[in-house]
Amino acid sequence: MSDTIIETHDLSKDFVMGDMVVHALRQVNLRIEAGEFVAIMGPSGSGKSTFMNLIGCLDRPTAGEYVLSGRPVARMGDNDLAQVRNQYIGFVFQNFNLLPRTPAIKNVELPLVYAGKRNRHAIAEQALEIVGLGQRKHHKPNELSGGQQQRVAIARAIVNNPALILGDEPTGNLDSRTSEEIMAVFQDLNAQGKTVVLVTHEEEIAQHCKRIIRFKDGRVQRDELVSKPYDARKRLAEMPSSEDEEDQAPAPAPTFQL
Ligand code: ADP
Ligand code: MG
Repeated sequence: MSDTIIETHDLSKDFVMGDMVVHALRQVNLRIEAGEFVAIMGPSGSGKSTFMNLIGCLDRPTAGEYVLSGRPVARMGDNDLAQVRNQYIGFVFQNFNLLPRTPAIKNVELPLVYAGKRNRHAIAEQALEIVGLGQRKHHKPNELSGGQQQRVAIARAIVNNPALILGDEPTGNLDSRTSEEIMAVFQDLNAQGKTVVLVTHEEEIAQHCKRIIRFKDGRVQRDELVSKPYDARKRLAEMPSSEDEEDQAPAPAPTFQL
């Protein structure tokens, strides 16, 4: 039994644009173990999103292999791929991607609907508690701050208890304090055993992770461990307090029991 979550072998992705071929990813070989917390960095156009879409089973490689938790997924059909995605992966996006006129709790329940699970309300409630938003479950996204909306999105990402949480610039639209709060949530989830992979432009955010993989021109340029990752809670404690007094930081490290 291996605890490898992500394993890629010469993973490649080409995009054909008229008579031009863009080599978005070129023979990427990576291994990410269970429990890692990884930042993906690199200049715009270096292949970060392409890589995330492949490891998130949202797209298929042009060539190469991708093994997710021991399953070769590179050539799976759409239905199998969707099932793997629902079972193993939770996504968090820069723009939150919540249903705007739908209460937080209903947004969080959605993946459970797709998975055909019962007790949806109770499970979704628990996920909202984990991200510190138990009090706001009936609020709609437009009644929540950006940071709260992202916490709803994280609750939605974890509600199916996925092994892998992926974020493409999850703090990209948030101010420094709110970004720090979101990183505290990711650090809690990681401390509870979740594997987390985030794309970020910001060195400051990447320093919260345990490993930084830098892409350039579709290749891995550097892959390094962070010797002393920033502790988001510690940094939050040292920052001036939030303007919104009610906007509590998530409860400290609740036990993950979805
Ligand atoms: P990053 O996320 O690092 O900014 P991307 O993975 O989005 O980079 O893009 C890598 C390269 O692939 C870029 O040159 C981009 O223009 C190209 N690319 C990405 N998606 C597509 C697509 N759907 N069609 C054509 N080219 C694409
Ligand atoms: Mg991108």
